[in-house]
Amino acid sequence: MNAVKAVAFDLFNTLITVEPDALPVALGRLVASLARNGLEVDEQVFAAAHRQAALDHVAKTRIDGRETHNRFWISDALAALGSNVMPDDRRIAAAVEAYFSAFLELSRRIPGTRRLLETLRPDYRLGLLSNFTHGPAASAVLDQLELTPLFDLVIISGDLGYRKPHPRAFEALSRGFQLEPGSIVFVGDDPECDVHGARNAGLQPVWTTYVRDRNIPFAPGLPAEPTDPIDGGIPRISDWHQLTNYLGNERKKKRQM
Ligand SMILES: [Mg+2]
Repeated sequence: MNAVKAVAFDLFNTLITVEPDALPVALGRLVASLARNGLEVDEQVFAAAHRQAALDHVAKTRIDGRETHNRFWISDALAALGSNVMPDDRRIAAAVEAYFSAFLELSRRIPGTRRLLETLRPDYRLGLLSNFTHGPAASAVLDQLELTPLFDLVIISGDLGYRKPHPRAFEALSRGFQLEPGSIVFVGDDPECDVHGARNAGLQPVWTTYVRDRNIPFAPGLPAEPTDPIDGGIPRISDWHQLTNYLGNERKKKRQM
């Protein structure tokens, strides 16, 4: 393995968590926004249709890796309820903003995250690669949690057009850093998107189980997908101390070679 020159992270459930009521709050704001714009829907019925539309669109992203967007889910959900509103309609744009405003308010940094990034900064380039359909909302979350200035490179799938585990998402990291993929460690919580995705793209994956090990409710972005257990040989960490130890040990091994 190459010497590690950059460390990149997933965002949700890796660096930050979201309060468990974020999804119902977000949906409530979405429905209220639609109502303000003359599109009255029953919240429960809409929520089920929105969820189904999200599942359908996410299934498509698994085929070609292309990112989806909440505006399509809302348009499809409204169509299922009998209203034809195009995805680019301004009423849907307003509903998207209302929906993501909940995530902005209810996202929390995992304790010690800023200190970790400050500790790593002198020795590594730092990056972020998040599967998030609405790029501006992810950027706003990073700004609000005072994380943006700690990264040399931030890539959001909604801006890029591809989502993890597609290799193009990880290629954007190595291209942005101008580094060989093998010299980049990628830290994430999702076995399929983060760990297998990074490994298949030639990066060095590290699986973080901080959220899983503490039974913290998973951030409800896209509907939860079943994940296979990680097979052997992938480094696993449960806190930031273990990550700095792991990186320090890798560095020592390289020096001894
Ligand atoms: Mg995650």
